[in-house]
Amino acid sequence: MRSLPHSADPVEPHEQHAQHEQHEQHARHEQHGVLCRFRSEVYACLDARADALFELADAVLCAYREERNRVGSIVCTKCREENPATFELCWNCGWSL
Ligand SMILES: [Zn+2]
Repeated sequence: MRSLPHSADPVEPHEQHAQHEQHEQHARHEQHGVLCRFRSEVYACLDARADALFELADAVLCAYREERNRVGSIVCTKCREENPATFELCWNCGWSL
């Protein structure tokens, strides 16, 4: 009689990959559900011109996220100090980057 797999049994690499993919897919599905609920709740808070306001809020948040994900550095044109790409002002002299 064949026994069921036990957690201590060796797992083949292709099975590990399949399990990892399944876990990742489940996590993405959960994240999508959380995001959908959040968007619905935000939309419900808007009264007049809800569609336009929701689109505007979405655009602002997307622009913010894109800005926060910038990598690398920027050299200040005033003092030549290197600043992280996410900075808006030079940390050294306060100049707008
Ligand atoms: Zn500077």
